[in-house]
Amino acid sequence: MFTDDVMTASPLRESLTMQDADLSHTGETTRQTAPAGAARIAEIRPIMIRVGWRNQLLVKVTTEDGLYGWGESGLSGREGAVTAMVDHFAAFLLGQDSRRIGRVWQECYRSQYFEGGRVITAALSAIDIALHDLLGKRLGVPVHQLLGGAQRERVPTFASTMAKTTDAILADVKTLTDAGWTCVRTYPGGFNDEETFDPRANLPQTAAELIAVREAFGPGLTLGVDLHHRYSVAETASFCNMLPPGTLDFIEEPIRCETPEAYASLRTMTNIPFAIGEEFSSKWEAARYLDAGLAQFMRLDICNIGGFTEAMKVAGLSERHYVDLMPHNPLGPVCTAASVHLSAAVPNFSWLEVRQSPVEQLGFHDWEIFPVQMEMDGPDYRVPDGPGLGVEVNEEMIPAKEAGFVETPHLKRPDGSVTNW
Ligand SMILES: [Mg+2]
Repeated sequence: MFTDDVMTASPLRESLTMQDADLSHTGETTRQTAPAGAARIAEIRPIMIRVGWRNQLLVKVTTEDGLYGWGESGLSGREGAVTAMVDHFAAFLLGQDSRRIGRVWQECYRSQYFEGGRVITAALSAIDIALHDLLGKRLGVPVHQLLGGAQRERVPTFASTMAKTTDAILADVKTLTDAGWTCVRTYPGGFNDEETFDPRANLPQTAAELIAVREAFGPGLTLGVDLHHRYSVAETASFCNMLPPGTLDFIEEPIRCETPEAYASLRTMTNIPFAIGEEFSSKWEAARYLDAGLAQFMRLDICNIGGFTEAMKVAGLSERHYVDLMPHNPLGPVCTAASVHLSAAVPNFSWLEVRQSPVEQLGFHDWEIFPVQMEMDGPDYRVPDGPGLGVEVNEEMIPAKEAGFVETPHLKRPDGSVTNW
């Protein structure tokens, strides 16, 4: 990936986070200031830090009585834009009642004529998660209790292997199954190459790897592959045709998600369940896939979809279609904590993605900077019972974790044309 240290703070930030931000041009009635004594929002602070090889955009919301909550934004690699959006929201959220979370959601999503979009919902997600953390702490209950309470005693996860050869993949799956995992995901062969990706050359390699895993571990293993929307419809169809029936339990995001009709076309060419949704930024986007029968697992990302408020609605839409959530969880401990509470509270759930396993430690769950975070018990997360999310940030470490410019690899096909990372 490309990184350097040219990231600078948004020039808008200081003025837009000031408590007396000038909204006079919109009329004084625009600002919904809560009465004194309410749990009024005193500060909304975006904090961008480098953890591992990439940035995490945390948001800390503090109320006048000194309580605070943490949120995280999921638009990885575009943190600068989301920071500016959080700052803009702060200008009209300061002074509001932090407990009116559903109303805050509506005001952020719909306050401008051009509602919605990924930057808006990534910022809104972080604020919504932080407000839930705050309310849980205020009431002395875990966030999952605010969502109806825990439906399960533990939150099962699926683990991934990014190994590059068949032998290494088999070794990783052995390590994972020995440690108790029953659901494992692989990536396309050569996933970690940083310059070129040739789908046609990749298809037989990835198919052979998956066939080898199925032959070695039998039908009891739940096996998926994340194709990272690198294929076309035709390439995905060819790939599926290379797999004997029963090889795969889910195929994740083989193509991009702008066009549900493309997935509808692909749906006629394979019977492998689709796991889709990590890029969705609203219930309206998710509904287009659920209503058309195109998502068999809902991969929503709580840090992009719009926080708990929107995630619970997508969970309800999914439940109506007998589709289980398989939440995307590729970020840091705040995202993981929010995802664990969501996963605990919804009835329709399969596995939560985990990026810390015996075969994969990406470094995003740094215990030095996050001294309190979700704990695993084998392949499961424990359902937390403390107040709020159950994650804390060592803020003294923040200056040492200065964020920088991060851009994921710009992949090319062998002919030099652009393809997705
Ligand atoms: Mg994915």
